[in-house]
Amino acid sequence: MASNTELLSRFMTLPQNGLIQATYIWIDAIGELRQKTMTIDRLPTSPSELKIWNFDGSSTGQAPGHNSDVLIRPVAIFKDPFRTGGENILVMCETLNTDLSAHATNHRALAQKIFENPAVKAAETWFGIEQEYSLLDTDGHPLGWPKGGFPGPQGPYYCGVGATKVYGRDIVEAHYRACLYAGVRICGTNAEVMPSQWEFQVGPCEGISVGDHLWMGRFILVQVAEMFNVIVSFDPKPIPGDWNGAGCHTNFSTVAMRNPVGGLDAINTACEKLKPKHLEHIAVYGDGNERRLTGNHETAPIHQFSYGVANRKCSIRIPRQVNEEGYGYLEDRRPGSNSDPYRVASKIADTIIL
Ligand code: ADP
Ligand code: MN
Ligand code: MN
Ligand code: MN
Repeated sequence: MASNTELLSRFMTLPQNGLIQATYIWIDAIGELRQKTMTIDRLPTSPSELKIWNFDGSSTGQAPGHNSDVLIRPVAIFKDPFRTGGENILVMCETLNTDLSAHATNHRALAQKIFENPAVKAAETWFGIEQEYSLLDTDGHPLGWPKGGFPGPQGPYYCGVGATKVYGRDIVEAHYRACLYAGVRICGTNAEVMPSQWEFQVGPCEGISVGDHLWMGRFILVQVAEMFNVIVSFDPKPIPGDWNGAGCHTNFSTVAMRNPVGGLDAINTACEKLKPKHLEHIAVYGDGNERRLTGNHETAPIHQFSYGVANRKCSIRIPRQVNEEGYGYLEDRRPGSNSDPYRVASKIADTIIL
């Protein structure tokens, strides 16, 4: 059903009698987002002031029916850009078993262990993630593509402007502003190489917070698109053939890599550390990524590790400017669009620092 914005706004502008709507958001068994909302009477100043809630895990593939309660514990709070009439909030949560141990699908808990390590803390890790995604019509066909057919070959679409060049800009604009309002650290957006494919970037964020911000950015995107009756696909290769896949390039630095003295050496050392762990990284960089990492369409082949300056056909790219200035960050180009940033970020920190 397409939403009736005019009718809806009559209700969304009603006062809330001092109460607050808190929407708890979590990741299900297959990496999709779920949400439910409760009324609270006081705006929390930290996630720990919010109560641990629960949901029916048998309906999300996260528990058997005879013992179905899964707990959700708040980890990060954002402003709610959908219910702007009051001080409503979106709450990123992690999933727990009823004994408060981490649920098997809770990859944040494992990441948290790595980011709590004193050596990792001392390294002052920063992450910036480029989230690519594709917009699809409700029939599963890319938004704006001729029905039953294809648009002209790739070339005019990347960072494009104009009808027949970009499809879905309304969604991109609404999402960008909603993220700024919410407090998601979005730092940019662009149209991608495949028509109706887009990207937004988050960062730089310290440590595990990049996961909280990226997941919330994804949530806002999917719900904004829902309001436009459009599907967001995070498939790493939504259309086979001569069409670019969708990645989740993960940019990374430590305090040593950002240091004008010896920064570049630290970056090269990091690349050498990543090399022998290539397959371990690929294993947590998203499902279906082998369809994307072919060696074509600005990717490196999935079974081969490489790094280089300004080279978009490498696993790891050292930006030209970083090489010239002698310090900065590296870009891991391998993660697929559907990768879990908690797993990717913690794997990178683990390999390079520990
Ligand atoms: P690309 O040229 O690969 O398309 P983008 O401009 O899309 O790059 O994204 C660059 C990303 O790098 C952003 O998410 C930004 O936050 C991140 N970034 C910039 N500086 C650093 C840094 N020192 N450490 C980690 N990430 C960084
Ligand atoms: Mn980019
Ligand atoms: Mn891109
Ligand atoms: Mn990139």
